Amino acid sequence: MASNAVPLRRPKPSRRIGWIRGARAILTGLRITNGHFMRNLWGFIRRKPTVFTVQYPEQRVPMPPAFRGMPVLVQMDNGKERCVACGLCEWACPTDCITIFPAETADEVERYPDVFDIDMSRCMFCGLCEEACPEEAIVMSHEMEIAAFSRRGTLWHKEDLLTPVESVAARLSHIRRGYERPEAKPAE
Ligand code: SF4
Ligand code: SF4
Repeated sequence: MASNAVPLRRPKPSRRIGWIRGARAILTGLRITNGHFMRNLWGFIRRKPTVFTVQYPEQRVPMPPAFRGMPVLVQMDNGKERCVACGLCEWACPTDCITIFPAETADEVERYPDVFDIDMSRCMFCGLCEEACPEEAIVMSHEMEIAAFSRRGTLWHKEDLLTPVESVAARLSHIRRGYERPEAKPAE
């Protein structure tokens, strides 16, 4: 079969020009690196650091309310979960990492999750469970230190997920702001 390849003839590069270009690139890199080093050193000596380095875990950066960490279950004032086991978050979760077994109760809230598990190894922190929940019962917290040494350790049960409402208050205000609609102007 005839080949359609077109041979390309490039001029042979001059070894001398290639060497000069290479040396110039190295010197440019060294100049930039040294410039940053001297500026940061001067800032360090004056105790006015010019680089943003956080000494984690001793130092923490405050997270904005929009940050989505691990999903948690919000507790009511009586310590029980707000969740009514409707299953909407389970349905909305794109990775199927939520498992709920509902049960009935004689309380004011008639249903509750007997089992509410989240497999954090599959969670991608998308926040769709939070959006789907009609009770503000599952909320994206600021918690992100959830590493585990085994698959079993990444399975979080209801008791591990329950969180007092005060610790997710900023996130709740943030998501409520997202639902507010600007009031329609009256017709003139
Ligand atoms: S944040 Fe997304 S992936 Fe994680 S549990 Fe909620 S819906 Fe599922
Ligand atoms: S959507 Fe909300 S109320 Fe329904 S099961 Fe999920 S967390 Fe519970």
